[in-house]
Amino acid sequence: AKAKGRSTTCVFAPEMEARLRDRLQIESDLRVALAEQQFALAYQPIFNLETDRLCGFEALLRWRHPERGLISPAAFIPIAEETRLIVEIGAWVLRQACRDIASLPGELKIAANLSPVQLAVGDIATTLADIVRETGLDPSRIELEITETALFADDQRNLDALRRLKALGVRIVLDDFGTGYSSLSHLRLFPLDKIKIDRSFVQDMVDRPDSAAIVEAVTSLARRLGMTTTAEGIETAEQLAVVRRIGCTEAQGYLLGRPEPIAAALETVRCSARV
Ligand code: C2E
Ligand code: CA
Ligand code: CA
Ligand code: CA
Repeated sequence: AKAKGRSTTCVFAPEMEARLRDRLQIESDLRVALAEQQFALAYQPIFNLETDRLCGFEALLRWRHPERGLISPAAFIPIAEETRLIVEIGAWVLRQACRDIASLPGELKIAANLSPVQLAVGDIATTLADIVRETGLDPSRIELEITETALFADDQRNLDALRRLKALGVRIVLDDFGTGYSSLSHLRLFPLDKIKIDRSFVQDMVDRPDSAAIVEAVTSLARRLGMTTTAEGIETAEQLAVVRRIGCTEAQGYLLGRPEPIAAALETVRCSARV
């Protein structure tokens, strides 16, 4: 009886309260961010290791908050997902990315990240079909990156949404491979075109033979299954040499180019940089 009164009293530590307030503030700020045009995209180059040429860009979301400055997607995307604001924000990302890539010379691909919420809520396939029509972009130039955890939520709806996207002619990429709850059977179940090997493996490779073995195994497995691979997070020439030797199809990372505004991406295309 003596503990009862106390245990029902919830004591917030001041920093917990501050964090909660912060979160609520971000949530309400997110609601106006689209209308106020506070979002921007940064484009990171992706290189094909067979041709040694630039083959496309990944669009990465940036939020220029009026008071807080640049907020990392890792900090606000989870909140956008919980509130489902990601559906609208994600549609903006796709539209903007497709417009931007359509304005660049050449037949470069555009990769955009897709939240699982965008598969589960609304009609992403119809949204994308509209964008394709508007921009005139060949759908085969569009890649949608989805994380393992997103895909394997064991949801029939996700699978249906993916199949409808696939039917438009876009490519589906499994992002951050190796970090989630992957099971090899999922690689068969989902209509995947490419596996993006998480940077934690790529960055460990040089010092740890077991990480190199994993990258090698994933690459050959992907090939056997008719998929290609991208090694992400390449920061050193050594890492690049290893993924090249292993036979990854594409490479991406700070060594090859950082995420930059579209004007800088255009410059990269003009220089038509080689790896
Ligand atoms: P991600 O899809 O795995 O994107 C790669 C992240 O790694 C990006 O961080 C990129 O800037 C960073 N990166 C690229 N090369 C290197 C490298 O060589 N070394 C290191 N250490 N990092 C590198 P960013 O832009 O902060 O994005 C973080 C995550 O936020 C993304 O991870 C993605 O999951 C999510 N995200 C970004 N944009 C969107 C979006 O439009 N929609 C959704 N749903 N998620 C997004
Ligand atoms: Ca990605
Ligand atoms: Ca990734
Ligand atoms: Ca990631």
